[in-house]
Amino acid sequence: MSKNNDALAAKLCEAIRDVPDFPKPGIIFKDITPVLADGELFKLSIDALSAIVAAHNPTKVVGIDARGFIFGAAVADRLGIGFVPMRKSGKLPWKTIGETYALEYGEAVLEVHQDAIAPGERVVVVDDLLATGGTANAAVSLIKQLGGDLRTLAFLIELDFLDGRKLFPDVETTSVLHY
Ligand code: AMP
Repeated sequence: MSKNNDALAAKLCEAIRDVPDFPKPGIIFKDITPVLADGELFKLSIDALSAIVAAHNPTKVVGIDARGFIFGAAVADRLGIGFVPMRKSGKLPWKTIGETYALEYGEAVLEVHQDAIAPGERVVVVDDLLATGGTANAAVSLIKQLGGDLRTLAFLIELDFLDGRKLFPDVETTSVLHY
């Protein structure tokens, strides 16, 4: 049975554009720019992600470079809490810790400022899409290294066939739209 039983998932599915063979052959890229361009749909997406994470009473939203910034920062603003950017290597100006990870189409390093999360602070991760889970797993590792209390992972889109969520058996993982 489909997990996409609500009206928002149907609208998102209609708007999201499949781009075959981007950024490399064999990948079907889920282009979310039509969602961003539709004020009502973008707002509904932020409503849904905010509802997922609000129950955990976090004090920070962690967003992952780069589309995770768009959704994560909007959720943080909606909840009136802080935002922590996790960035690709060499982008953050101060002292960082980093984690190397594999994603659906390559390898990268994710970094965060050493003082971005206080020990014991309640944090949530927001990103646009869960594929193999490599990116989110690096974020989870960085949060743990900083001593953060990771409450939940929230995604707009999840590619169920890649089973990325198996990497987080102990963390609640929720996505608005499943493929
Ligand atoms: P992964 O680490 O494999 O879970 O990949 C997740 C990250 O890569 C997310 O931040 C996405 O923005 C991006 N990504 C991976 N696969 C896709 C895809 N098929 N379409 C769009 N973005 C993707």
